Amino acid sequence: MGPKVTFTGVEDPEAHLIAFHTQMMLTGGSDVVYCKLLMSTLTGVVLEWFVSLPDRHISTFDQFATLFREQYLINKAPPRISYDVFDIKQYQGESLKEFLNRFGVQVVRLKPTNEAMTVHAFIKGMLPGPFSDSLLRYYPKTFCEIRRRVMAHIAAEDRVTEKRVFIGPVRPRAAGRPQPMRVHEASIEKKGSRKQQPYEKPQTRARTWRDPPHKHNFCVELKELIAIPNIAARKKVSPKTDKKLGPNKNAWCEFHQAYGHSIRNCLSLGHQLDELVKNGFLKDYLLES
Ligand SMILES: [Zn+2]
Repeated sequence: MGPKVTFTGVEDPEAHLIAFHTQMMLTGGSDVVYCKLLMSTLTGVVLEWFVSLPDRHISTFDQFATLFREQYLINKAPPRISYDVFDIKQYQGESLKEFLNRFGVQVVRLKPTNEAMTVHAFIKGMLPGPFSDSLLRYYPKTFCEIRRRVMAHIAAEDRVTEKRVFIGPVRPRAAGRPQPMRVHEASIEKKGSRKQQPYEKPQTRARTWRDPPHKHNFCVELKELIAIPNIAARKKVSPKTDKKLGPNKNAWCEFHQAYGHSIRNCLSLGHQLDELVKNGFLKDYLLES
C-alpha cells in the first residue's frame, strides 16, 4: 500500500515529509523501500528533478530527504514574523521617539527571535538623518542598545532646546584682547623674525584643566562605560574616601565611589573621558562624532 500524499513542486517540503512519515509509520522497510515510496509521491517536474540526479547519488533515505528539503526549501512558508518587523517604517513627521515606541510595541507583539534581524529592521525602517547615520557607523548589537541610544539622543536634543529657550545675555567679548594678539602674531610671522607657532597651540592654551570638561553622549550609561575592562584600565581613580565630594549629599558618584555629586556631574571623570575621546579610545561608544 503506497502513500496517499503527492508533491507537485509547490508544497512545503517539510510538511510533505511529515505527511509521508505519518502515513508510512506502520510500514516497515529498508532505506531502498522508503526511497521508492517517497519517489512514488513525486509528480511532474519533481520526478524529473529526481530522475536527473546522478546515479548512486542517493544511498540512504536520509540523504534523499535532505536533498529533497534543500531543493524545495524555497517553498517553505516564510516566517511571517520577520516580514512584519521589516514592514514597520518611520512615517514622515513621526518623531524618533514615536517610531521607537511603535516599533517596540510590534517587537513585543511579534516576538522576533533574532536580535540582529530586529536591529536591522529598525535601522531599515528609520528615515535617513544624523541619528540613523550614527547607528550605521556604530552598529548596535541589540534592540535594547538602540532604545538606550535613542533615549540618550532625545535627551541631548532636549538639552540643546533648553539652552536655546533660556538664552541669556550675550557674553561680552573679553575686552577685545584676542584680536590684537592675533594681528600682532601675524605681523611677526610675516617678518619671519619668530619661529612659527604650532597650529594647535592657542587651543591647548585656552582649554585649561579648570574649564568644565566637554560632555559627550555615550551609548551606554557612564557607570557601565567605566566598568568596561578596556576603559577601566585607562582611567585614573583617586583614592577612596568617606568624605562627601560635593554639595549634593545624596548623589552617588560611581567613579569616585563617594557621595556628594552624581557621576554625570563628575568633573574628574569628565576630563578623563574627554581626553580618551580626543585620543579616539571611545569612538565605539560615542553617539555622535
Ligand atoms: Zn566623581
